[in-house]
Amino acid sequence: MGDQESNGCPLFIGGNWTGAAGAATEPVFNPSDGSVIARTPMCGASEVDDAVRAATEALPGWSATPVVDRARILFRYVHLLESHFEELSRLVTREHGKTLEEARGSVRRGIEVVEFACGAPTLLMGDALEEIASGIDCDTIRQPVGVCAGITPFNFPAMVPMWMYPIAIVCGNTFVLKPSEKVPLTAIRLVELLQEAGLPPGVMNLVHGGVDVVNALCTHPGIDAVSFVGSSPVARHVYQTATAHGKRVQAAGGAKNYMVILPDADPDFTVDALIGSVYGCAGERCMAGSVAVTVDDAAGRVLPPLREALDGMKVGPTDRDPGADMGPVVTRQHLDKVHGYIASGLSDGASLYRDGRGVEVPETPDGFYLGPTIFDEASTNMKIVREEIFGPVLSVIRTDSLDEGIEACNQSGFGNAAVLFTGDGKAARTFRNRVSAGMVGINVGVPAPMAFFPFSGWNGSFFGDLHIQGKEGFAFYTRQKVTMSRWA
Ligand code: NAD
Repeated sequence: MGDQESNGCPLFIGGNWTGAAGAATEPVFNPSDGSVIARTPMCGASEVDDAVRAATEALPGWSATPVVDRARILFRYVHLLESHFEELSRLVTREHGKTLEEARGSVRRGIEVVEFACGAPTLLMGDALEEIASGIDCDTIRQPVGVCAGITPFNFPAMVPMWMYPIAIVCGNTFVLKPSEKVPLTAIRLVELLQEAGLPPGVMNLVHGGVDVVNALCTHPGIDAVSFVGSSPVARHVYQTATAHGKRVQAAGGAKNYMVILPDADPDFTVDALIGSVYGCAGERCMAGSVAVTVDDAAGRVLPPLREALDGMKVGPTDRDPGADMGPVVTRQHLDKVHGYIASGLSDGASLYRDGRGVEVPETPDGFYLGPTIFDEASTNMKIVREEIFGPVLSVIRTDSLDEGIEACNQSGFGNAAVLFTGDGKAARTFRNRVSAGMVGINVGVPAPMAFFPFSGWNGSFFGDLHIQGKEGFAFYTRQKVTMSRWA
């Protein structure tokens, strides 16, 4: 790590680890104590060019490699990921700040994508129909798209990159990964292990940086497909730029996830689920619940025990204190942004039911901490309800009916998750049918789909047609070819 601190994180191009000579660097922090633990080189078009050239050269050999051999490398990769599971989880905690338990959960989810990708021989099968006309048979095969790029956010340093490259490469594509400049270290380790698993040079490449690299990837003529995960404005920009340059794009954006609580919801269960959903990963999750829409007297049943539970929660340095229930947010700059939202909630007239500001962590006073925060009496026109805060802040809207609750959810321009807490099956059915979000939780606070289902954001939470993961992931990274044959 010493090297990465002084010289900047290495790039991986054509099977070689190299430096980005002359590139400016940005600091990578340990959010638990505010120290600088590495520096990210802010690469540009020339490094992207090198990576794309390597990926292009590797493509013919890799796409012609039998699918069972490609899958076999991923089987070895699963084994390596398992044997480095703890190391990877600690790395995630160190550069992101989430608790070790949360980091382990996210690495586990990432490994599940690799396990899923190992099923490629079955998942890549096409269809066939004999005698579609006299003497003519027809079939489809799936071929790789070509050189694919992945651009990822800071909040899941292992899991989100792993949503992309395992499926892309097992389909026979080659890949260029650009992780978030805030959390490059886990990605480096993931690529080192892939190399150790026996992946041929050039199949996987890694570049670092920010806007310049992203724009170079979106416009480079050698790239055929772009997978993006991050905030909605950047997702829209990536989608528009890369599709205008002839690429296939899947771009997952930000979120504002509503949770409707009916009066018949079990209070203890609901409080537990809210804590996990709103304050897990310090709220830095695209599936985090951030607005609770209570119906009738549900607020009175849930808010007091929720506040009491949060009062007992320990905020602390996740990299050294196993007793910390919630860690810091990722950077000082992000902490300031979340503070700005709390100020806006106050000036818009919401009532601050629990104030997380001023939380004290004497052990590491320079970490980026905010305690769990709740606004009551919020409304749909407030900024704290409309915009993604991405921090440990819950806004509560009080309503009188399920209909009003669904209407509140559907006013959000986003569409990742929507959650209902209830004991009533009919209400659950109505909610699922009418809510305008792609991932629905019924008594599940974080309805994040597992690897074999699509990560199915709607509205302003997704730009594109084929989602990440699941069969849609395989469809995204392949092109279908239909063949009609007649043999005299
Ligand atoms: P971000 O949009 O700031 O950055 C994402 C990526 O885009 C990074 O690699 C970054 O370097 C690059 N980037 C940033 N600004 C850019 C610009 N102006 N032009 C070109 N590229 C740019 O997102 P973040 O802060 O790293 O991550 C948090 C966001 O990601 C949240 O909005 C969260 O909801 C979202 N997210 C969404 C999902 C999902 O599945 N929908 C999953 C995880 C995170």
